Amino acid sequence: MPHPKDDPRPLWERDPDRYTERAKARVRKLSVVDPETDCWVWTGATNGTETANRRLRDPRTKLRPFIAFKGRHVYAYRVAYEVWVGPIPEGLGIDHSCENRLCVNPAHLEPVTTQENSRRYWQRKRAAERATRIAAMRASGHPVFGETA
Ligand SMILES: [Zn+2]
Repeated sequence: MPHPKDDPRPLWERDPDRYTERAKARVRKLSVVDPETDCWVWTGATNGTETANRRLRDPRTKLRPFIAFKGRHVYAYRVAYEVWVGPIPEGLGIDHSCENRLCVNPAHLEPVTTQENSRRYWQRKRAAERATRIAAMRASGHPVFGETA
């Protein structure tokens, strides 16, 4: 058995458990917990740029968290899912139940198909719009269907 120093393989091949522990520590260090949502909000590198963000209405919507993992730069929420939950099935993307793409809390992440991810996105968007409309009706004293005055 070669001495670890003479083993040219990267740590994730040489000692996957230790590599996983280190990755967890890095993810925790590079995120802060939002006490209201329990999101682990990424404070590390993102692929967003100032210029690109200025063009967008909501400057944070397109930002995605990045981290170095197994020699590549990948989405940090994928790494969080992999190290805390398990491998992401081939071809699947990550759905954020909290809708915050900068969140890396594994409890808020679920691997889904692109189609399912998009379906959930629109479903949540419609639900949010409906909630806004109902709140406006309520604020103006308009009766809301299903509620007794
Ligand atoms: Zn979250």
